[in-house]
Amino acid sequence: MNQAMGWNFDNSYVHLPKAFYTSQSPSPVEEPGLVFLNGSLANSLGLEAKALINEEGTAIFAGNQIPEGAKPIAQAYAGHQFGNFTMLGDGRAVLLGEQITPKGARVDIQLKGAGRTPYSRGGDGRAALGPMLREYLISEAMHALGIPTTRSLAVVVTGEPVFRETPLPGAILTRVAASHLRVGTFEYAARLRDTEELRALADYALERHYPELLQEEQPYLSLLRVVMERQARLIAKWQLVGFIHGVMNTDNITISGETIDYGPCAFMDTYDPATVFSSIDREGRYAYGNQPYMAGWNVARFAESLLPLLHENQETAVEIAQQEMPRFTEQYEQHWLQGMRAKLGLYNKEPEDAELVEQLLKWMEEHQADFTNTFRALTLNQTDKITECKNPEFTKWLEKWKARRERQTESEADSRTLMKKSNPSIIPRNHLVEKALEAAVEEGGLQVMEELLQVLADPYAYTPEQEKYTTLPEPSNVPYQTFC
Ligand code: AMP
Ligand code: MG
Ligand code: MG
Repeated sequence: MNQAMGWNFDNSYVHLPKAFYTSQSPSPVEEPGLVFLNGSLANSLGLEAKALINEEGTAIFAGNQIPEGAKPIAQAYAGHQFGNFTMLGDGRAVLLGEQITPKGARVDIQLKGAGRTPYSRGGDGRAALGPMLREYLISEAMHALGIPTTRSLAVVVTGEPVFRETPLPGAILTRVAASHLRVGTFEYAARLRDTEELRALADYALERHYPELLQEEQPYLSLLRVVMERQARLIAKWQLVGFIHGVMNTDNITISGETIDYGPCAFMDTYDPATVFSSIDREGRYAYGNQPYMAGWNVARFAESLLPLLHENQETAVEIAQQEMPRFTEQYEQHWLQGMRAKLGLYNKEPEDAELVEQLLKWMEEHQADFTNTFRALTLNQTDKITECKNPEFTKWLEKWKARRERQTESEADSRTLMKKSNPSIIPRNHLVEKALEAAVEEGGLQVMEELLQVLADPYAYTPEQEKYTTLPEPSNVPYQTFC
């Protein structure tokens, strides 16, 4: 069976100290049915899509069968949730194991919604179809946008209801990740108050993600630096496409620098730094404009966890960590500004670039301009098509921007090429996502979601077919809200 499907497991996580996980099989489900299989991702993992779409493949994605070589576990971790420290762990996910791909990469294969575990607390260990399809759709869209992210291999229905406010169809998502090591995993290790266990985790993270750093004189300081750098780069990419994660708790921040946990996330339409979609984020802790700051807060929690490894004298360790922290903002701002230059077709740097960008953003905020469509219109030289843009203040900015482009050696055509690569023509707009999920969950029609997935697979294509996906939602008095 394994050979036909291409499973090729090797499980390194289980060699960590026992405190880091519990052996845990998925709980079988009533009546599994395959809803989505990501064929191209399957191929890149060395899996045979054809063999996976049959009953046996579905049984694996449902947790009813364990593929050969897998050693299912639930991982232990902790985390700061909306600022409060909590002991957590995989409450509804089971890690089947690590698939070794044909290119030799090691990726986690995790079933999300696979039943209760010792870390479930009050939860049922299950997931509903809508949110799992949402994660599938948005994580794949993020990947296509060029943003590091966990991927989605499959969604199956379980044939069992899950009870939220109402009964909903149950489902399981197969998530693929560089690893599931989180800042929260390190916070958990630090709580064990056993430096050797913490060291084992740090060595494991280095080995798995940054083996070149093992040679460094201070590998744990290097680990801190590289995780900070990856987070700075990742959050800049989020900001540049208007992605709002919604639940940047430290248990949802990966050591690999991938985006993880697509619960209440959504893309911003109208540019407004205060935008919040998540129903539980009542104070706007994870608002769009707050994301860089919260990422800095999260890496500070990572640094705290690493203190025992940074120096044997804890005061010195604190000093070392504190010296690193200001770098985060600098790195983030550099990545962000560089990304904004690209969005405006600028190849070189001028000291006033930040101001040019800020003026545009301020104008967008004041005129409630759509974030993606404004950059799209600039890219296509079609700002005259946007009502808000027909305004003397904006015309003045356009002239300033034109003069700025004329001061670089690259041609106007070069500028447009860079802009097309840096400004998505389409994003998973909330109203389109909702329509696709509604059709899938309520009517069992997958076509709308399939079409959306297809067009989102090439967001920088600027094809005429993409046009209809750029339309804004009908004006509504009810603000868009997302739920975990
Ligand atoms: P999240 O907010 O998705 O990052 O999840 C936070 C924690 O709650 C994680 O430890 C999850 O495993 C756990 N959790 C979320 N939903 C459930 C559920 N239905 N049953 C058990 N645990 C859950
Ligand atoms: Mg989570
Ligand atoms: Mg979640």
